[in-house]
Amino acid sequence: MKIRLLLSCLAFALAACKPAEEPGATTPPAAPTPVASPAAKSTKPQVLVANYPLQYFAQRIAGDSVEVRFLAPKDEDPAFWQPDEAAIAAFQGADLILMNGATYSKWADKITLPESKVVDTSAVFAVSLIQVNETTTHSHGPGGEHSHSGTAFTTWIDFKQASLQAKTVRDVLIRLVPAAKEAMETNYESLKDELDTLDDRMSALSRRWVNQPLVASHPVYHYLARRYGMGLKALLWEPENVPDDKAMADLNAILAGHRARWMIWEGEPAKESVEKLEAVGLKSVVFDPCGNVPESGDFLTVMKANVEALEKAFP
Ligand SMILES: [Zn+2]
Repeated sequence: MKIRLLLSCLAFALAACKPAEEPGATTPPAAPTPVASPAAKSTKPQVLVANYPLQYFAQRIAGDSVEVRFLAPKDEDPAFWQPDEAAIAAFQGADLILMNGATYSKWADKITLPESKVVDTSAVFAVSLIQVNETTTHSHGPGGEHSHSGTAFTTWIDFKQASLQAKTVRDVLIRLVPAAKEAMETNYESLKDELDTLDDRMSALSRRWVNQPLVASHPVYHYLARRYGMGLKALLWEPENVPDDKAMADLNAILAGHRARWMIWEGEPAKESVEKLEAVGLKSVVFDPCGNVPESGDFLTVMKANVEALEKAFP
């Protein structure tokens, strides 16, 4: 039993790595050479993406048939990033621009993009986007002050929404490279299967926290909370900052009417933070929204780790 489980995990891990290479193999005319020389590279359609989840979806679906480019630096939140001149030029020269929608890319308001190339990947569920009223501003990273007021934009951590976004990505990629249609459809199906599995696992968890209020370190979990029935209240904390007296007072104000026992963090919190929370009866669990490229693994390995962490926290 144990070995079988191990084998199936291994198969799963292999399956997770494989699809990126598949399209090259399954689209004979599109990719005759496996290694793209700089010259060959420039002839491929240029697909620019607004965040890492879209990069992952596009690469996994299109494989070698397009060049997917995600330009936000690794240490910045792509939502609050400010593209420089070169990045703006790249967007303006793209064959396809995959946007997250839901007001994700704050920079897009100030820059004229070639309208016919821009695709809002969350447009199909635009009517069910969540509006947030948040008056305070704060900052994390080099992007300066921001607020999370307006439309909640971490759409993909509702895995049903993620697969709808991936479906839109598939459709526009097929329009861009019709010759790769079959491979793209196959690749999308395998991605969708994995997202559906995550959705099932999260849905199965939802009854375990039905009477358990939860706290989040940052207001980025609206869609996760809605789809999977979490009673979640958010602070404006950062994983790398240890909560000071003011932060602990904010937390205690929430806990007074919302007896949470778990805090969900965007990234691994400092040891000192974990201890401070334990002192007020809160345990810590990480659910990384993965808006930017992860330090290791990929979108799906991060999401699987997120779900596993919750399964462990709520056995
Ligand atoms: Zn923020």
